Amino acid sequence: MQLVFASNNAHKLQEVRAILPECEILSLEDIGCHADIPETADTLEGNSLIKAQYVYDHYHCDCFADDTGLEIEALGNRPGVRTARWAGEPANPANNRKKALHELNGQTNRRARFRTVVTLIRAGKVQQVEGIVRGSIATAEYGNGGFGYDPLFIPEGYDKTFAELPAELKNTISHRARAMQALKQIL
Ligand code: IMP
Repeated sequence: MQLVFASNNAHKLQEVRAILPECEILSLEDIGCHADIPETADTLEGNSLIKAQYVYDHYHCDCFADDTGLEIEALGNRPGVRTARWAGEPANPANNRKKALHELNGQTNRRARFRTVVTLIRAGKVQQVEGIVRGSIATAEYGNGGFGYDPLFIPEGYDKTFAELPAELKNTISHRARAMQALKQIL
């Protein structure tokens, strides 16, 4: 089965290909799509659908897209859909992490979760699945691995951040890995 993943992120493509070895996963570049697809919805579900629908409408092939948000309980689930650009444009992971620490300064409830929504469009039929990893936001940055908010995110059941834990472990318990497993179930 051939499926287009509406992404050019090499890290994500590698992860998805490892989870779905029975599928041929093509990137946006592989199909000649160089569009910067606007993510204008105010939910992860909406943005993931926009990306998948764009590929389906313009390239007429079965495809899926993902969108991820960090949801911090004490902040009413912010930054959520604004996770990538929380500290402003252009997206800056270091500034985003600083903002998270600042907003949680003095806060004892540090519970948070990463949530990934995947939208699959196959033969015109739209299906959505999600993957969640619960955890907490550390009081400072720890570790050099991973990307984005990884130096701040301690997954439930561990006492280290994603940036300190082995990548192989993260890739089995992460929000994205779980969403991809859910996708595998419906394929
Ligand atoms: P995207 O929808 O996958 O592009 O994710 C949105 C933003 O969430 C990214 O820019 C990252 O800042 C953050 N993010 C997504 N996945 C992870 C992760 O596994 N670790 C840390 N941050 C992440």
